Amino acid sequence: MRTHSRPVLAANWKMNLGPVEASAFLDGFLSRYAPRDDRTVILFPSALVLSTVRDGTRPRPDIRLGVQNVSTEEKGAFTGENSAAQAAGAGASFVLVGHSERRHVFGETDAQVAQKCARVVEHGLVPVLCVGETIEQRERGETGEVVLHQLRAGVSMLDHRAIRDMIVAYEPVWAIGTGRTATPQDASDVHLVLRAALAGLVGEDARGIPILYGGSVNAKNAASLLAVHEVDGLLVGGASLDPVQWAEICES
Ligand code: PEP
Repeated sequence: MRTHSRPVLAANWKMNLGPVEASAFLDGFLSRYAPRDDRTVILFPSALVLSTVRDGTRPRPDIRLGVQNVSTEEKGAFTGENSAAQAAGAGASFVLVGHSERRHVFGETDAQVAQKCARVVEHGLVPVLCVGETIEQRERGETGEVVLHQLRAGVSMLDHRAIRDMIVAYEPVWAIGTGRTATPQDASDVHLVLRAALAGLVGEDARGIPILYGGSVNAKNAASLLAVHEVDGLLVGGASLDPVQWAEICES
């Protein structure tokens, strides 16, 4: 069931590219990628670089912006954190929530992921909820169970409308930054499971929720993954740091 006809191409820069490098990236990328109305491109720079990227993309409203994380809290004495309200005020429209590095490196729990999704929606932003299994879970045959649990927990504080308007990203942990990509069949199988679960939550509206694939996507494999019927877009880490390669992926 291909649903979302306009693919979403999202770049997760992680903790890379400072203001100077980000400006150089934009020079390279924007000169290679002309605006297209048949896809959505989203950049997720470091929060410290968001204003640089916002200014650099001002002439290009087709390029959307997001942040990689927000606090579960609204405001206050949480040194080092960034709030959803601050992200919205700084020009973000999207927030990555529950990225595997947040879950596995920083110990983010399902409850925190749910709170962050709620906070993001409260401030008019769109959560990009990331789910994915570890290699051990995959080898034990638990992939479906794991991603369904993460999905249901992540949306547990959202209403119908917020779920309908969100984005989901399937990112197998074993594929992130490893050079090992899920096969189109692997991606297809998991996306179908996720779509069915979303349909259980919001019925027909599930058809419009983009489900992205992420994990070692590059300019060589992007087209074959995008060709998978159930894959509505890509979330790209490493390969999105190179403006030439990222432009090629966006043209896939
Ligand atoms: C990511 O960080 O979301 C990601 C998919 O990384 P990479 O493309 O480097 O595997």
